[in-house]
Amino acid sequence: MPRSLSSVLLHEALHHYEKEKLGVVRFFIKMRTENWKIEGFCEYHSASSSFPTDKGLRIFSGEDSYDFVTTNEIKPEYFYFVSRLRTDYLLNFKKVSERDYWSTKYDEDQLDEEIRQALKEKRYTFTMQ
Ligand SMILES: [Zn+2]
Repeated sequence: MPRSLSSVLLHEALHHYEKEKLGVVRFFIKMRTENWKIEGFCEYHSASSSFPTDKGLRIFSGEDSYDFVTTNEIKPEYFYFVSRLRTDYLLNFKKVSERDYWSTKYDEDQLDEEIRQALKEKRYTFTMQ
């Protein structure tokens, strides 16, 4: 999925915002330890997508094979997709504050399982604008 220049610029501007907000040291620590937050936050706020939503949700829910990701060498795109999904779930659906989003250390497997359950029960719908 090609990205528009404006969404790329917005994404980069949001990284700048994160750096200001977290401080450079914390920003780089998070990049290493919780990179999904760093990228998910930007993807969420720039409303950009690098992966087809339907396909991504099917793979995430286990209804479709992850082979699609590995054979097509689109791991970074899928990573961005899942990162945005998690961020959307937390900020948009669960109404977690930005402060808690950054300070809470989420167990990623547990979080994903919670999202899968919410998707399955149709309590949560993930849409791309
Ligand atoms: Zn980025």
